Amino acid sequence: MRLLALPLLLATAAITGAAAPLPVHVAEPLAATQGQILIASLPAGSHELTLDGTPVHVEPDGRFMIGIDRDFAGSMALRWVTKDGRSAHRMLNVTARPWDIDRLPARLLTPADPDAPRNLEWEAKRAAEVAQVRAARAIPSDYPFWRAPFRWPATGRISTHFGSQRFYGDTPASYHGGMDIAAPSGTPVTAPIPGVVRLAAGPFSLEGNIVILDHGRGLSSAMLHLSRIDVAAGQIVRQGEVIGAIGSTGRSTGPHLHWGLTWNGVRVDPEALLPPQLPPAPEAGR
Ligand SMILES: [Zn+2]
Repeated sequence: MRLLALPLLLATAAITGAAAPLPVHVAEPLAATQGQILIASLPAGSHELTLDGTPVHVEPDGRFMIGIDRDFAGSMALRWVTKDGRSAHRMLNVTARPWDIDRLPARLLTPADPDAPRNLEWEAKRAAEVAQVRAARAIPSDYPFWRAPFRWPATGRISTHFGSQRFYGDTPASYHGGMDIAAPSGTPVTAPIPGVVRLAAGPFSLEGNIVILDHGRGLSSAMLHLSRIDVAAGQIVRQGEVIGAIGSTGRSTGPHLHWGLTWNGVRVDPEALLPPQLPPAPEAGR
């Protein structure tokens, strides 16, 4: 049996040894902006895609998704193997975006009081909430829901854009990691694309009543401050299905939906994915 295998090995070596290594294929650079979720395509059959060395899932038809951090500057390298076995690469050039920056005097920044008594009960509750949010976003899934074109989860004015940030003098506060849609309390909130409900809980200290939808391949939506939740964890929701209603629960100054979109932990801007919002339909009888 061992002897039989030898001629086969020699024959294989003769074939592969004779062929020169397939050339590297370099494609045009891709362009993206800070905070963007980039959904693009490679030629069908491309595989082993990496972004600066980190594996990125690519579908059999070549479709892939990448989230760009709000503060990333420069270029990243996409590398993959083509259907015919060549190694290929393409640069991803990220352009900066102008963010809404609100500059306030440094004196308005109230420093944390080191002598303030710790609220251990609150700290424990908060730690448990953060752990639940993190766990809900960390479940890997191969659902193809992310490929659907997005719809608005609620109709209303955008009251705060993704990436907005306050500065107290030179000290930046954390930037706004989602998009706020202001609308009356009770306005239905729908799934922008299909998803699996990974968390339906609350009210949390900051997020209020929260629903997290998993759209597959690391993309998830968090809907915050809801007055009401209409879904349960584990449920699959269709695009446009009501998941709850706009409210002002948690840390909120008025009824609005905070929609946070993340790709494998990278916060991205949902607004860029949305079609133009249709004007509200005229009310009957007017
Ligand atoms: Zn918000």
